[in-house]
Amino acid sequence: MAAISAGRAGAKNVLLLDASERPGTKILMSGGGRCNITNAEMDFRNFRGESVNGIKKVILQFPPDKVVDFFISAGVKTKVEEPWNKVFPVSDSASNVLNSLLAEVRKYDISFKYPVKLNSLSQVGSIWECETDKGSFSSETVILATGGFSYPHTGSDGSIWTVLRNMGVTLVQPRAALTPLKCSDHDLHALSGLTVWCRIKVRENGKEVFNHENSLLFTHDGLSGPGILNASEWFTDQKLRKVTELTIGFFPEENENEVREWLTDEIKNNPTIKLSKLLRTKLPDRLAAVLINRLDFTDISIGQLPREKRNKLIALLTDFKPDISGHSGFKKAEVTAGGVPFSEINLATMEVKQFPGLFLAGEIINVHGIIGGYNFQWAWSSGWLAGKSSLTKIKG
Ligand SMILES: Cc1cc2nc3c(=O)[nH]c(=O)nc-3n(C[C@H](O)[C@H](O)[C@H](O)COP(=O)(O)OP(=O)(O)OC[C@H]3O[C@@H](n4cnc5c(N)ncnc54)[C@H](O)[C@@H]3O)c2cc1C
Repeated sequence: MAAISAGRAGAKNVLLLDASERPGTKILMSGGGRCNITNAEMDFRNFRGESVNGIKKVILQFPPDKVVDFFISAGVKTKVEEPWNKVFPVSDSASNVLNSLLAEVRKYDISFKYPVKLNSLSQVGSIWECETDKGSFSSETVILATGGFSYPHTGSDGSIWTVLRNMGVTLVQPRAALTPLKCSDHDLHALSGLTVWCRIKVRENGKEVFNHENSLLFTHDGLSGPGILNASEWFTDQKLRKVTELTIGFFPEENENEVREWLTDEIKNNPTIKLSKLLRTKLPDRLAAVLINRLDFTDISIGQLPREKRNKLIALLTDFKPDISGHSGFKKAEVTAGGVPFSEINLATMEVKQFPGLFLAGEIINVHGIIGGYNFQWAWSSGWLAGKSSLTKIKG
């Protein structure tokens, strides 16, 4: 997007390098192979890392509606999907998105070379010398859109983070975000493959910091699905993890009192119904069986449920606490938290303050968002701004 933006603004002799043999692999993998391009109702509170105002400043330069216009002009019709207002190509094909970008690249004076890995950067006067594994290149401006550490086999291996650090640029420590969590509850592992709609909460030092209704997927070693991925970053930070607790509410629309009332009514009206039968009216069979096991029962009529077991059941249904024992790391993280902070960047141009002519875009910056098209939007907007600013710099 950065190269296209420079090309559209009239830049000549743009050199686009990518370390990967298959550039854009992440686009192909994204949104389950459908590429969630952006979000039609962008809520800026869903971004994390840097200040909402700063993020807004960059995104509004090339906001979601302009991104949609861009893709339509590049031949990709889009649609909005409820309930999260995610924007996808009508074709439901991420390759449609990647191919449109590659076709745009070909329209301008852009020479695209890959695989070429950038190893180091140095500034001689006002010219940047770029050392790569295929020789060196020089240029008045350089844009780094080299991503973070997630899914390293796609080419985003974080190698440029070390280059920047060695140049004296501050970087916020990277950590995996939007990554599956592991838990040590063996009874939950047996539910592998099951998806439930639930409320996921995160408490940090007892204070609620995350509260989302979404789907949860049980896996062979823990928990995944959009709700868990969005909550995961509290558990990939060593310090936060010690003071953080994740809870699951299996009746997402009802609070503890409402669930208590429901159970009390059922006990009064249908005392002979088996607990398993009652739970199965609201939950998948396998999950109901796990919860009953946790009450130390095989099964029982609900009228015979002792008071302390009723309380335990309500806690299991509304405030289930899995024992989070780890996470899947960068290997399965959809995004990297951390990166270059806004204090290092001129947000009007995306230029690194201490290095005139060096611009940044995308995940290399300390901004990431929840699932829903936020991360690509950040990449498109910051790339667009960096591309056009780099040309202004040369002309200026
Ligand atoms: C499985 C998965 C699904 C996702 N789905 C979505 C989604 O549906 N919607 C959404 O908004 N976001 C999604 N994301 C996140 C989104 O893909 C990223 O936030 C986005 O791709 C970041 O763009 P980027 O250009 O900053 O970095 P990247 O896409 O990581 O691209 C960086 C590029 O730089 C190249 N590179 C790295 N180092 C060098 C070097 N030294 N020299 C030369 N080239 C180098 C890499 O080869 C790579 O091609 C998903 C991510 C994953 C992993």
